[in-house]
Amino acid sequence: MDHFNAANNIQDLQFFGEFGGVNPSISDSSTYTFLSAKTMFDTFEGNTDGCYLYSRHSSPSNLYLAKALANMEGTENANVTASGMGAITSTLLQLCKSGDHIVSSRTIYGGTYAFLKNFLPGFQIQTAFVDITNLEKVEAAITENTKVIFCETVSNPLLEVADLQALSKICKKHNLKLVVDNTFSPLSVSPIFLGADVVIHSLTKFINGSSDSVGGVICGEQQLIDDLKSVNTGACMLLGPTMDSLRASSILKNLRTLHIRMKKHSENAMFLAENFEKDRLTVKYPGLKSHKNHELFKKMMHAEYGFGGLLTLDVKTVEKANELMEMMQNENLGYLAVSLGFYKTLFSASGTSTSSEIPEEERKEMGLSEGLIRFSIGLDHDIERTYGKMKECMRKTGVL
Ligand SMILES: *Cc1c(COP(=O)(O)O)cnc(C)c1O
Repeated sequence: MDHFNAANNIQDLQFFGEFGGVNPSISDSSTYTFLSAKTMFDTFEGNTDGCYLYSRHSSPSNLYLAKALANMEGTENANVTASGMGAITSTLLQLCKSGDHIVSSRTIYGGTYAFLKNFLPGFQIQTAFVDITNLEKVEAAITENTKVIFCETVSNPLLEVADLQALSKICKKHNLKLVVDNTFSPLSVSPIFLGADVVIHSLTKFINGSSDSVGGVICGEQQLIDDLKSVNTGACMLLGPTMDSLRASSILKNLRTLHIRMKKHSENAMFLAENFEKDRLTVKYPGLKSHKNHELFKKMMHAEYGFGGLLTLDVKTVEKANELMEMMQNENLGYLAVSLGFYKTLFSASGTSTSSEIPEEERKEMGLSEGLIRFSIGLDHDIERTYGKMKECMRKTGVL
């Protein structure tokens, strides 16, 4: 893995525009002409490389972005989608059919949880939710119908870290696919090199980084990407979660600064986490020695990008959480908003927002307290100043 450098791999790509532009031209077309009717037939049959057919299948702009993301994750290829959920749902519906079974981490993005829990059973696909850090429980949940183990590298919102190498061993032993949502840790962790089969991102978050677009990607072997795009049986082709070319083009431009942004997000989050801990607040951040998966994360990460931009603070009650968040927003320290990876700090109380799909008892069981605030730390130029002002808000609201 030492020879693998995701940021270099993104930067080494050279795509010129039609007139020698330094950015690739945007393909502003839904359909493409063929010089001969025979080529059109062959393209439908999947026998022609480099021919475009229709933009739900592929378009030049989407292929550029997919190529850059495949280079970032070290996979043979990738396919971009209209959202992170478009990537997750297409992948799972491609890999699992009626009667199949999934073993999933129980601490995952609320939308993914709702899809597995409420939507897939209607298609006779059942999911066992487990504590992904307990490998014995993971293995015990596997049945003869299991096809996939699904997890997030760093989980939402509890920031638990999945031991991808150990999970990959279990997958190999039982002939399963390890599907990893790496949205919280782009560049920091390269799941493929730890044994994952498929890596998914919501591009909406750090990768795009400007909170102006929704997007997703599936990175994996060429065969999976071909399967997803098959005109006869492909989930991406048939369900149609297609990214627009203009979006693909703008996300590609933002991807090029991801390495700089991730370092700053991590540096700022580390600074706040260390200081909140000194202040005896209940802070969780994988970069802190006190975090239960600190050593594991250290073993898995590319150190230069740090431990990521997410941290959580437990202020016990939802009332306190709301009061603190409103005050921080009024002081211009960030926005009370879901999502992550923006230049500005974003905060939300997970239990009443992005994880509200998870029933209350289950939230309790997994340690997702009502007063848990998830922070996506921004690119603040002067994080010491931010810390000082945050502390003031915490004093005023009695959190400190
Ligand atoms: C936001 C998010 C998703 C869903 O992505 P969308 O782009 O909103 O569809 C999936 N997984 C994780 C970890 C996320 O944070």
